[in-house]
Amino acid sequence: MRIIVPIKQVPETSAVRMDEKTGTMIRDGVEAIVNPLDLYAIEAALLLKASQPEGQCEVIAVSMGPPKAQSAIREAMSMGFDSGVLLSDKKFAGADTWATSYVLAAAIKKLGDVDLIICGERATDGDTGQVGPGIAAWLDLPVGSYVGKIDGLTDGRINVQRLLEDGHEGLEVQLPAVLTVVKEVADPRLPTLRGKQRARKAELTTWNADDLNLPDENLGLNGSPTRVVKIFRPSVTRECEKLIATDDQSINTAADRVLEFLQERELV
Ligand SMILES: Cc1cc2nc3c(=O)[nH]c(=O)nc-3n(C[C@H](O)[C@H](O)[C@H](O)COP(=O)(O)OP(=O)(O)OC[C@H]3O[C@@H](n4cnc5c(N)ncnc54)[C@H](O)[C@@H]3O)c2cc1C
Repeated sequence: MRIIVPIKQVPETSAVRMDEKTGTMIRDGVEAIVNPLDLYAIEAALLLKASQPEGQCEVIAVSMGPPKAQSAIREAMSMGFDSGVLLSDKKFAGADTWATSYVLAAAIKKLGDVDLIICGERATDGDTGQVGPGIAAWLDLPVGSYVGKIDGLTDGRINVQRLLEDGHEGLEVQLPAVLTVVKEVADPRLPTLRGKQRARKAELTTWNADDLNLPDENLGLNGSPTRVVKIFRPSVTRECEKLIATDDQSINTAADRVLEFLQERELV
């Protein structure tokens, strides 16, 4: 069995700064980490591997990003992944979710027989949650999103529970398939010292656009149908009216004013 986990390297901050002129993210001077939500996908893959007979399951990390994204792959390897592929090319720069999932899908195709692709729920910077379902669409595979529990694998099918706002939904999905997982799926382990040493020495595969045989017009900014037309920080204004009520009379006056306020807005 073969499981692929696409992982994204993201800036180590939730306060992502944007360049308002270019509409792109300011990444300079910000430390890069594995997208925190991808750690759950990594752990889910490792648990599935452990549930299979020894040597019967291979787990591979794939990341599209600049050369420094290799450290994200090494982190997955230090947690127990067998190998990793970095997809790096200047032509991939500026990709939106369409172009990102296109390149990831092409790499997964090139890897050959794959049973399961497990993505994080979303990346903490781009934050769309579209890349996992995008990969499934390019590869014409079924997708189970927001998976909070993996019940098990039987006869080429995986049983999962999707997290819904008001409960769970059980799904039996035919493999090969794509899952996107939420935090509830597993508790990510910490890398071991031995794992770190192995990961540091590991030879990673790196593929560029030519290796994937992809046409330039489908890549990066050129291949991205999404355009950031304008970005701005919404101004939050709170126009408040203070009602100070200290005795029976002022409490009644304040209550009348609250009622009047709600009636003016047709809320009562
Ligand atoms: C015009 C335009 C230009 C952009 N330019 C850039 C840019 O230059 N650099 C940039 O980083 N972003 C850029 N973006 C943002 C870009 O759309 C997203 O960062 C990227 O496509 C992934 O989407 P997301 O972050 O919303 O991931 P989500 O869909 O939220 O991620 C879900 C899951 O998909 C997987 N995943 C997502 N991205 C990757 C990846 N790169 N490699 C492996 N797995 C992945 C992970 O498992 C992740 O948990 C640009 C967007 C637009 C619209």
